Amino acid sequence: MAIKLSEVSANDIVLKSRSYSGSGPRYTSYPTAVEFTEEFSASSWEETLRADAAGLMPLKGELEAVATGPRSYALYLHLPFCESLCYFCACNKIITQDRSVIEPYLAALFAEIHWYRDILGSDISVEQIHWGGGSPNYLSPDDMRRVHQETLKAFPNLASGAEVSIEVDPRTMKPGQLEALREVGFNRISMGVQDFDDTVQQAVNRIQSFEMTKKLVEEARALGFTGVNVDLIYGLPGQTLTGFRDTLTKVHKLSPDRVALYGYAHVTWKQKVQKALERVHLPTPDERIEIFAEAVKSFSEAGYSYIGLDHFARPEDELSIALEEGRLNRNFMGYTTHRGARILGFGVSAISTLPNAFAQNTKDILVYQESWKNRRSSVNRGLLKTREDCLRGLIIERIMCEGKLDIGEIERNWQIDFRQHFAEALEKIDLMKADGLYRDTGDLIELSEIGRVFSRNIAMAFDEYMEKYAAKKVFSQSV
Ligand code: SF4
Repeated sequence: MAIKLSEVSANDIVLKSRSYSGSGPRYTSYPTAVEFTEEFSASSWEETLRADAAGLMPLKGELEAVATGPRSYALYLHLPFCESLCYFCACNKIITQDRSVIEPYLAALFAEIHWYRDILGSDISVEQIHWGGGSPNYLSPDDMRRVHQETLKAFPNLASGAEVSIEVDPRTMKPGQLEALREVGFNRISMGVQDFDDTVQQAVNRIQSFEMTKKLVEEARALGFTGVNVDLIYGLPGQTLTGFRDTLTKVHKLSPDRVALYGYAHVTWKQKVQKALERVHLPTPDERIEIFAEAVKSFSEAGYSYIGLDHFARPEDELSIALEEGRLNRNFMGYTTHRGARILGFGVSAISTLPNAFAQNTKDILVYQESWKNRRSSVNRGLLKTREDCLRGLIIERIMCEGKLDIGEIERNWQIDFRQHFAEALEKIDLMKADGLYRDTGDLIELSEIGRVFSRNIAMAFDEYMEKYAAKKVFSQSV
C-alpha cells in the first residue's frame, strides 16, 4: 500500500496533531526498552540465545518452549565516539578528541563478535549490517576496513544484496573513508543534517554547511553508494517555518533516497545538556506541528512514499518496495526491510533482539571493555517476553508498518477472540475512528492516510504498559 500523503493536506495534519500530540513510545520494540530489567542478566541472555539457536523459544510464564522458525540476522555495531557534542543529541555517545580510545574499544568489540560466533556458528545468514553511533566515521579508513573484515571473518554468510550501511557525521569525514567503506562493501550511507539554518546550527552547536553536505552526497554517489539517507530534526531551538522551508529546499537539491524526519525530544530529565537549548526559543507545540506538517507535505509533493511515523523514501527504494510487499519491519534500527530478522547488537549500549527476548549491553564503556577482556558477556539488562507481549508486539508492528490488522488472521494464529481480547484497546481508539484515523470493516482495521501519520497513537492503545507511564515523563512527544 503505497502511501501518497499529498492527498492529505498539511492543514489536516495540523488540526489532528492538536488532538494527538501527547507523549508516547516510538515503538522500535515492544515492550519498549523502559521495561528492560537487570533481572534479565548476561546468563539469561546466553541461555535464551542458545535455546534460539537450537530452535526453541522459551517465554516468560509458559512451561514449555515453542519452536522457532527459520533464522536470519541483522548485525548492529555501535561505534560511540564523536568529536564534539550536538546539544540536542540523546544517543549513547562519548565525546572525545583522543584517538587512543579506539584500540581498547575495538578489542572488546571483536571479542564480543567472536563470542556470538562461537555460540551461533559462522554459517548464520546475515541480511543486514549497520554501523551506528556516535559517529562511526570517528574511525580511520584502516580501522573501518579492520572492523568490517573482522565481522565478515566471524559471519561470512552475507546474503547477496544485503544492506550494509553506516551513519556518518559529514563534518568529520576524513579523506579515504568513503573509499574504504565502498571497498569493503558498504552500499548505503546515512548522514545527519538536522537543519541547514544558521541560527539553529549555532543553537545546537552543530555547524554544517549545505556545500559540505552536498559534496559528501556527490562523492558517495560517484563511488557507487546506492542509497544516500538524510536525517532531519523538527522542533529544534531557533527553528521557524520559514527557516525550515529553506532547509527543505536544500534537502531536495540533494535528492536523498530516504529521509528520516525526527521530532526533537526535549528530555532534560535524561539529557541534562539539553537545558542549554532553553536559552534559545524552542518552537511552541503549534509551531512544531506546523514545521512537521510542512515537511510531510514537501516530501509527499516531491514524490516520496510515506513509510510511516518519521520516514520517507523514493518509490524505487527498498523500503518503499518492502512496504508495498508487506515485509516492512520496525526495530531498534528504525524501519527496515527484513521482517523477522534477529538482531545481534555489538558494542557499548547495543541492543540485541530475538523473537522472544531483548538484551542490552552495559552503557558504561569501561565496564563493557572489562567484560570482554575477561570474555564475559556485557549484557546487563533485558527482557524475556510473555506470550501476550509477543501478540501485542505483532499488533503494534502491523499498525506501525502495514497500517492494518487482519482480524481473522490474528484470531486463527493466536486462538483468541480479537474483539473480546482487545475490548479495552478498541474502546480507546473508538474516537479515532470517528475522527477518520482508521476504518473498521469487521474483518479489517485499516488506517487511513492521515491515520498513518498518527499510527503511534493507535498503537499505544494496544500497549499494555502505557497506563503506568501516563503520569510520568518517560517518552518524547508523539508529534
Ligand atoms: S555527531 Fe551525532 S551522535 Fe555525535 S553528538 Fe552529534 S548528533 Fe550525537
